[in-house]
Amino acid sequence: MAQWLDLFLQTDRPTNLIFLGGEPTLHKDLPHGIRHARRLGCRSITVDTNGFLFHDFLDSITPDDLDYLSFSLDGLTAGVNDPIRGAGVFAICTANIAKAVRQGFQVSVIYTVSSLNINQLDKMPALLQLLGVRRFFIQVIGLRGKSAQKGGLNLQVSPEEWLTKIPPVAKAASDKGIHVIYPKVFLDDDEKFQCAGNIAENYFIFPNGRVYLCPLCEDMPIHTYRIEDGRLIEQPGLTEKKLLSLNIPEGCVMNKLLQPGNLRYDKQGRPRYRISCCLLKQEHQPAL
Ligand code: SF4
Repeated sequence: MAQWLDLFLQTDRPTNLIFLGGEPTLHKDLPHGIRHARRLGCRSITVDTNGFLFHDFLDSITPDDLDYLSFSLDGLTAGVNDPIRGAGVFAICTANIAKAVRQGFQVSVIYTVSSLNINQLDKMPALLQLLGVRRFFIQVIGLRGKSAQKGGLNLQVSPEEWLTKIPPVAKAASDKGIHVIYPKVFLDDDEKFQCAGNIAENYFIFPNGRVYLCPLCEDMPIHTYRIEDGRLIEQPGLTEKKLLSLNIPEGCVMNKLLQPGNLRYDKQGRPRYRISCCLLKQEHQPAL
């Protein structure tokens, strides 16, 4: 872990690092990785967790080691959250959020919006304020092909629902002093499309040594780089990097290839809207 962090953090450019999974706290050496990244001068370090915080994670690091501890919570109640995230998860996750806040950690929550939980989203700011959560990520469900269906139910929310329901909730949360971040998803007509894989520098690094430029490509053998013998090596052949340079009217190439269910077309076959890069975020800074 330390060698690989050295590989990516040995620059004078500010770097934001997120440990995510699976569940990163399952790895007993995660605190070692966090402290190593801190020593290397990372601008920010975040851990995304399902809330279980294995290996006594909160007692293995200090609030100074970490900028944010980010919990996935997909409902206001156990009745909505647990069918999505697992039996008993709501109670464990909210108890550990409260514990982390008590111990002085900055806590954020990631809420992945789907048709199963969008109706509880407007109540979330009050719960987050009660729990002492400082930052709220509203994420759009990005399931591929058939996995976007659960028991015959379409989990994806429509553009109309996303555009009408998300901004008011973001505003309500920021009015309560919470920093809110959510993806743009649908570009306005006059907005320029840009692919972060082409214009920014993000690396999605997997334990098997694969390194991707686009988070949607994970699990597929089209990674741009691989780590071998402590070096970052560009892959030959067809990789995501070559696909990212394609210019298509739908916007994001990988969305078109992997999540075509997100797209709608008119009778002439023209896309009704363009999908932005999933890394393009909108923010509401806390109003208090
Ligand atoms: S999500 Fe789409 S636009 Fe963003 S990096 Fe991946 S391919 Fe590019």
